[in-house]
Amino acid sequence: MAYTYDDQNIFAKILRGEIPNTTVLETDHSLAFRDIQAQAPEHVLVIPKGPYVTYDHFANTASDAEIVDYTRAIGKICDMLGVSADDGAGYRMISNAGEHGVQEVPHLHVHILAGRNIGRMIARAAD
Ligand code: 5GP
Repeated sequence: MAYTYDDQNIFAKILRGEIPNTTVLETDHSLAFRDIQAQAPEHVLVIPKGPYVTYDHFANTASDAEIVDYTRAIGKICDMLGVSADDGAGYRMISNAGEHGVQEVPHLHVHILAGRNIGRMIARAAD
C-alpha cells in the first residue's frame, strides 16, 4: 500500500510553526498539543514529527527511534496529565484512520481523552 502524505494538512502546518498550538510536550520526534475542540476536560493530540498518515503507516515504516520516542511521549503525557489508570482515573486513547475511521486530519495522531467517564468505546451504528 502506498501512502500519500499531504504536507498542506493542518498538523503539518502546526509542525512548521505556521499555525499556533498549545503544546503540552515536545520531544525529538513527537509533539503533543491540546485539541482545539476539546471533547473532554483533558483532550491532547500526540503526533510524530515525521510525515505519517496513519498509525499503520507509522508502525510499518518509521524508524525504531521514532517509534520509541512516540510511544514514550504518549506515556509521558499520561503521567503529566495524571491520568494513568495506575494512580489516576484513566483515559481513552483513539487513533482514527481513513474513511471508515472517520479521520479528519491526514497526519497520524492519537487522541488522549480524560477527566470524565468517556463512555462506551463506540456508539452502535443505526441499522
Ligand atoms: P480526527 O478526526 O482526524 O481523528 O481528529 C482531528 C482532530 O484535530 C479533531 O479533534 C479536531 O478538533 C482537531 N483539530 C483540527 N484542527 C485543529 C487545529 O488547528 N488545532 C488543533 N489544536 N486541533 C485541531
